[in-house]
Amino acid sequence: MKNKRIPWNKGLTKETDERVRKSSINANKTKKKKKQIPWNKGLTKKTNIRLRKASEKIKQTLKDNPEIIRQVQIKRKQTYKDNPKIQIMQIKKLKQTLKNHPEIKIKQTKKMMQTLKNNSYIRINAWNKGLTKENDERVRKRARKLKQFYKDRPEILRQQAKLRKQTLKNNPKIMINTMKKRKQFYKEHPEILKQQAIRRKQTIKDYPEIMKDSAKKRLQTYKNNPNIQINRNKKHSATIQRIELKDWKKFVSKEPYDQNWTLAFKRAIRKRDNQVCMACGVHREKLNRALDVHHINYDKKLTIPQNCISLCRNCHAKTNTNRKYWTIFFQSLLSEKYDYQYNENQEVILNFKIEDVKH
Ligand SMILES: [Zn+2]
Repeated sequence: MKNKRIPWNKGLTKETDERVRKSSINANKTKKKKKQIPWNKGLTKKTNIRLRKASEKIKQTLKDNPEIIRQVQIKRKQTYKDNPKIQIMQIKKLKQTLKNHPEIKIKQTKKMMQTLKNNSYIRINAWNKGLTKENDERVRKRARKLKQFYKDRPEILRQQAKLRKQTLKNNPKIMINTMKKRKQFYKEHPEILKQQAIRRKQTIKDYPEIMKDSAKKRLQTYKNNPNIQINRNKKHSATIQRIELKDWKKFVSKEPYDQNWTLAFKRAIRKRDNQVCMACGVHREKLNRALDVHHINYDKKLTIPQNCISLCRNCHAKTNTNRKYWTIFFQSLLSEKYDYQYNENQEVILNFKIEDVKH
């Protein structure tokens, strides 16, 4: 008891004091050394096996009691909800880890590639192929959940968008490569493209309000950044003119009409056809716009009554395909109705009566 009351540094000579300092430095050194040893170094085969066994045991336990996983997930979800910053931090940390240890990323990628290789159906059969109605519903449910998740945490989405933007800015090749790959993929699997179109159509049918919203959004975007639409039009115009975008100078109408193509001429054709669509018979009164005047042989430079016919918008759109069929169809119709004449090559035969020339 008496000893305890003596302060620890009492009775130390200068010499012992030096010794104490040295030992403390040494202790610090060993501490530092210990810190530098990687976690898996110094493991004998035996301990390695022990570790693996332990991890397998945990795996089995979780497999036997899926309730545990669910509870952990729920807990994690709640934590993220309460502190969305934690998730952002975790994502950042993971990114940093992958940056510092690229071998981990390579390993993961290799593993994924191997999985895809072993299960080639995953890759070839697109995500929506082979889905029964039941798991289709599951996919939709998950998508909805994910949407809600991001809706509740817009800051995550913003962060991700920012990062993505920065990445693409730093490596524009990524975008180009992705586009190329996608193009190639769709070339090899046109059926997927078709399925997607069908799906999109169905979605529009099922959720018209979504489409309205997205159309509104797009309009707003164009309004805020008119350059987006102008640039898109320029690009399209360059494609039509078969030139590079950098060589683009002006908008050129695709196929100029001849000088006969006037409002008066179009009115005359509509009048000749009694303001009725010559394909389906609908009257102008039942439409909210004037009838289109269509060039029967698709040559916009042959604007003469024998080559022009009144069509409603719907029927006019249909004439974009099966051109030969429609040409023959309309020519036989007009020759019956107005005595116009055409030869077997669908060319107009112009008959001038002597009286017409005289006057
Ligand atoms: Zn029509």
